Amino acid sequence: MEFSQYNVNSLMYITPRPEIVFTEGSGMWLTDNNGKRYLDYLQGWAVNCLGHSPAVITDALIAQSKKLLNPSPAFYNGPMVELATQLTQHSCFDRVFFTNSGAEANEGAIKLARKWGQLNKNGAFEIITFDHGFHGRTLATMSASGKPGWDKLFAPQVSGFPKADLNDIASVEALITDKTVGVMLEPVQGEGGVIPATREFMQALRALTKKHGILLIVDEVQSGMGRTGELFGYQLSGIEPDIMTLAKGIGGGVPLGALLCKEAVACFVPGDQGGTYNGGPLMTAVGIAVLKELTTPGFLDSVKEKAQYLSDELNKLSAEFGMQGERGEGLLRALKLGDNIGPQIVEAARNMEPVGLLLNSPRPDLLRFMPALNVTKEELDQMLRMLREVLKQVKK
Ligand SMILES: *Cc1c(COP(=O)(O)O)cnc(C)c1O
Repeated sequence: MEFSQYNVNSLMYITPRPEIVFTEGSGMWLTDNNGKRYLDYLQGWAVNCLGHSPAVITDALIAQSKKLLNPSPAFYNGPMVELATQLTQHSCFDRVFFTNSGAEANEGAIKLARKWGQLNKNGAFEIITFDHGFHGRTLATMSASGKPGWDKLFAPQVSGFPKADLNDIASVEALITDKTVGVMLEPVQGEGGVIPATREFMQALRALTKKHGILLIVDEVQSGMGRTGELFGYQLSGIEPDIMTLAKGIGGGVPLGALLCKEAVACFVPGDQGGTYNGGPLMTAVGIAVLKELTTPGFLDSVKEKAQYLSDELNKLSAEFGMQGERGEGLLRALKLGDNIGPQIVEAARNMEPVGLLLNSPRPDLLRFMPALNVTKEELDQMLRMLREVLKQVKK
């Protein structure tokens, strides 16, 4: 079907979109309304950790949808209990609350920390967050985010989120008062431009928060579920946070998130937290299927190997075209372009023929790569060849 036959103006305009409509996806590939194929390095924004429509997910959806869709959040269901059990077995956390998105998981983390502050810290409620951090698009999570301009966008903000600088422990310490209940950060700032918190910073944050008796909250919506080569990003630095949030990868493409905490922090009582769809068996059944793949022996090792390969090859491209190197953790990486040519590269790559390449430029001087974690070396090579062609055009 021609693009002009789609009445896209019945949608709210929230972002400029190219004039194509995607109709099918398989693994690292997407197909549009004209039958053109694209090698996809967005994967639903680091969501499709096993690629588009993997059999393990479609099988789980079909099987569960024939058994039970939604008994109500007032009752237990099998997949909800099973996935919570497995997440606690694979992490340092003891309790899980399921959500439908990352923002909702973070909103829950903020509520949990404030409740804990009421019970244990004289009503302390401030959560120190970071400049350029991203925690979602609800009012509280936008306020917790450090995106330039967001403090004015839907003013007034939810108060209580002073901002520190990532990888600068003194900037955090300077903000701690008797109102502080915790510190929240992404182990790798994703939307901010793929900026990893250093191992030393994460360890210093753990020591500092322990010293002051406040909570360490990690937003692993983007860095969790194998993305960094460890199952969770906090494991890179060998620390144990008090609260963690997950979304994106945990559903492999379906809306699923989670709020996890240590037993000592699990202070919600009936009435504090809930939601109609939270912990429904259809989505948690998918979470079980995804986690099973990620924890198959050898899977995370292969993520680490491919991450090293991608990092080495991006550095070679950078040297060849006089760019500024690359950074990231695991299969969440960014190429530092040196010039504001990101949007131009994204467009030229998408328009390549006969197949296009889908890339993301979170900042104009940066390209971000978030392939499926089961991407093959051949699919990495094909992307690198296509990117090299585009760079030859754009850089000449
Ligand atoms: C995407 C993202 C969110 C928001 O998740 P949604 O599912 O879009 O609400 C929050 N935090 C981080 C780190 C993210 O990358």
